[in-house]
Amino acid sequence: TTTTVLEDVVSVPKMAPFDYSPPPYTGPTVDEIFNKRKQFLSPSMLYFYNKPLNIVHGKMQYLFDESGRRYLDAFGGIATVSCGHCHPEVVDAIVNQTNKLQHSTILYFNHAIADFAESLTSKLPGDLKVVFFTNSGTEANELAMMMARLYTGSHDIISLRNAYHGNAAGTMGATAQCNWKFNIVQSGVHHALNPDPYRGIFGSDGKMYAKDVQDVIQFSTSGQVAAFISEAIQGVGGIIELAPSYLSTVYSSIKEAGGLCIADEVQTGFGRTGSHFWGFENQGVVPDIVTMAKGIGNGIPLGAVVTTPKIAEVLTRRNYFNTFGGNPVCSAAGLAVLRVIEKEKLQENAHAVGSYLKERLTALKDKHEIIGDVRGRGLMLGVELVSDRQQKTPAKVEILHLMDQIKGMGVLIGKGGFYGNVFRITPPLCFSREDADFLVDVMDYAISKM
Ligand code: PLP
Repeated sequence: TTTTVLEDVVSVPKMAPFDYSPPPYTGPTVDEIFNKRKQFLSPSMLYFYNKPLNIVHGKMQYLFDESGRRYLDAFGGIATVSCGHCHPEVVDAIVNQTNKLQHSTILYFNHAIADFAESLTSKLPGDLKVVFFTNSGTEANELAMMMARLYTGSHDIISLRNAYHGNAAGTMGATAQCNWKFNIVQSGVHHALNPDPYRGIFGSDGKMYAKDVQDVIQFSTSGQVAAFISEAIQGVGGIIELAPSYLSTVYSSIKEAGGLCIADEVQTGFGRTGSHFWGFENQGVVPDIVTMAKGIGNGIPLGAVVTTPKIAEVLTRRNYFNTFGGNPVCSAAGLAVLRVIEKEKLQENAHAVGSYLKERLTALKDKHEIIGDVRGRGLMLGVELVSDRQQKTPAKVEILHLMDQIKGMGVLIGKGGFYGNVFRITPPLCFSREDADFLVDVMDYAISKM
């Protein structure tokens, strides 16, 4: 049969051994949890997989279900687990700080918060020296947009079509995919053409897309803008790396229109793109405001906005505050994350393993018609599936089948993009070459068997 022939060509991949077993699980069954979730939790996101997955334990690049089965985590809690699940140094930092002080308030002084702010700003270029802590990426972007509006006196913000910047009232305006928007008032945000090299009308010509931003300024605003906000590589949007030279041209137009440039580093920060610590550095620009979350805390709820002292001044005589922002436990975790990234050379690893993985995925594209595009940088890679390469028809159904097959072989992978047809590969940055090989072999096998 066809299957027999294929099995001769591609043998069932095996995960590398790992010297660790989680303690036995004694909690409720998957069905019991499913019923509770259905009854007591928000109805969104109930069905990521056809059969629910109960994750009870994590160790570095691996997750474990209730039976003790090990999975290679190629999604990293949605690009969040930077150092590895339950990294011992991060865990120790959290436990030590928890034993000393869990919470006071940012109104009192505490060195954990100040040390973290100092360390964080040392990673940023130019005059980006003032930190505001938040609890999430959405909040960070809300604050960044508000600061830009206060600073410039303009309300108009420009973001990119297909972007995801959060889901509160303001950031939902900047998010530009109908999948993530609700019909609520989202004023003052204008969307420019997405500089998407694969599907965009100007291909990889960053300068042509940048011209569209000038048109938006001229035709949709008063000519004065508050800010331009973008990711350097769109994550939720399907791992779309903005066309080369795009940001430098756009940043000039925005400055001319009196606006600020906001870099959303929620997914691209903390060494994930490999070649640089921040995503915006890949386009050779320096933003006025940088927002971050996800990888900053290795999974601890934490976000931040970093800006210049001059821009930060807009909040000086106003009451701006949030209860948990800069919580000492989160700060201790964040500080440990920065230490681990440096000590374990995780950015360098993201570069080396990511480049190797991208090469292997590109070779897979030559083998399988269903792969329309392979893209991204470091350990932030996308594989777009199409049922027709010429037409670029999104393979929306096929990807669901493949997700389940890949999970069946022990790999958890992300999915996204406007059509939901892009595999998102954003593992913990400790991902190894062997992990990369296993992931590609599993994808190869699953596609071959389809
Ligand atoms: N910005 C980007 C680029 C994101 O990917 C996300 C979340 O996926 C957000 C902002 C919102 O972050 P959070 O989910 O922490 O509110």
